[in-house]
Amino acid sequence: MSSIDRSQSVGGTRTYEVRTYGCQMNVHDSERLSGLLEDAGYVRAPEGADAADVVVFNTCAVRENADNKLYGNLGHLAPKKAARPGMQIAVGGCLAQKDRDTIVKRAPWVDVVFGTHNIGKLPVLLERARVQEEAQVEIAESLEAFPSTLPTRRESAYAAWVSISVGCNNTCTFCIVPALRGKEKDRRPGDILAEIEALVAEGVSEITLLGQNVNAYGSDIGDREAFSKLLRACGKIDGLERVRFTSPHPRDFTDDVIAAMAETPNVMPQLHMPLQSGSDPVLKAMRRSYRQERFLGIIEKVRAAIPHAAISTDIIVGFPGETEEDFEQTLHVVREARFAQAFTFQYSKRPGTPAAEMDGQIPKKVVQERYERLVALQEEISWEENKKQVGRTLELMVAEGEGRKDDTTHRLSGRAPDNRLVHFTKPDQEVRPGDVVTVEITYAAPHHLLAEGPVLDVRRTRAGDAWEKRNAAEKAKPVGVMLGLPKIGAPEPLPAVASGCGCD
Ligand code: SF4
Repeated sequence: MSSIDRSQSVGGTRTYEVRTYGCQMNVHDSERLSGLLEDAGYVRAPEGADAADVVVFNTCAVRENADNKLYGNLGHLAPKKAARPGMQIAVGGCLAQKDRDTIVKRAPWVDVVFGTHNIGKLPVLLERARVQEEAQVEIAESLEAFPSTLPTRRESAYAAWVSISVGCNNTCTFCIVPALRGKEKDRRPGDILAEIEALVAEGVSEITLLGQNVNAYGSDIGDREAFSKLLRACGKIDGLERVRFTSPHPRDFTDDVIAAMAETPNVMPQLHMPLQSGSDPVLKAMRRSYRQERFLGIIEKVRAAIPHAAISTDIIVGFPGETEEDFEQTLHVVREARFAQAFTFQYSKRPGTPAAEMDGQIPKKVVQERYERLVALQEEISWEENKKQVGRTLELMVAEGEGRKDDTTHRLSGRAPDNRLVHFTKPDQEVRPGDVVTVEITYAAPHHLLAEGPVLDVRRTRAGDAWEKRNAAEKAKPVGVMLGLPKIGAPEPLPAVASGCGCD
């Protein structure tokens, strides 16, 4: 290795690192970016390594200071790159789609800028930048290839995201997604089912169907019932134990979807449905095309058809023009709906959205005070709803990396069918992530459950085998070349950062 080349290559192979911001769509796109780079011969940089040879930022454009965060991180990397000529930096995702060549103007040490519609171009653009020693900015106005056709490097061996559509046809006034991810495009049902069957053949036993507006699936292929048909088709796939989906929109949540959820055994009793506000005038200003009565009506129908369903939501507090009466309506829906969990956000202006220009922007102090009231109410309800789980016997899919205290508490963690997080007593028998255990719930906390008694049954699964095989392959690798066992286990449920839809 020549003295000037300070690259972090491992055994001469260039290393990469993908830094992901924002929603599940980005988490899934990052699996594709990793797959593309590994397909091009890069290896994942060892955990904790200084900067990799190639650092890719998969950005989010939601938060008001999303760009400050990006330029802060890029500034941090500048001296590292100056010290290592072979190093490359690439910026993709929603902020790249929005800011384009502004990024290389503000951070001229960036080598590649690509958008949300052409993630497949990353390896070629990196090579072109290296050969031409010139930054490459390439943004497509519409989708070049469905991300699911690109190579992937999944974060989990036993659970997977499956994208069914990209983009969104709605125009919620606080949301920048349609401008950056375009109109809705649906994958063909056959392609989706083929991907799921291939995943199950690899040992995956849980999938999450992914779309900006997952239950609008079909609008692009002219079949209004395509989503419920897809759920039912998933019910016929042997070996597929759990089906989840994110995020639906209340407007498109039709009776055929509720029936498909209730009548398809492997579709889990869990639903994330963004409310955003409980006030009809605010919902109108948000252009959310449903009102309080319809939202509560859907909750009632879901509960009638699936009594144990855990329902979670997203709520924005402090939308421009929101009065105290409007906010009281939000609290009213929260009391009525009894959500298992709510991701709550303080409204923040997003440049480029109609709401950012609206009159009646609410002072931070007022927003904060309302936010605290909402969080306190929801915390109480989450705990009460969790307490109803005590005494129930549940099957858990054993998770990896979801129990921060597991090592010290001699416990393991898993997800119940309704996606609640349960920490359970470690059995003497070996249990692997992806396996299924049966436990009795003995205690409820606001955001997790405990099963302190002995495990009632352990079912070793093909998913557990897949995890074990991957783990062994990882351990067999020479030090430094990471097979990149996931930092995270199964796709985490909606991170509080940003929900699937509209990224509040
Ligand atoms: S909030 Fe969701 S439904 Fe509304 S425009 Fe954004 S992505 Fe579409």
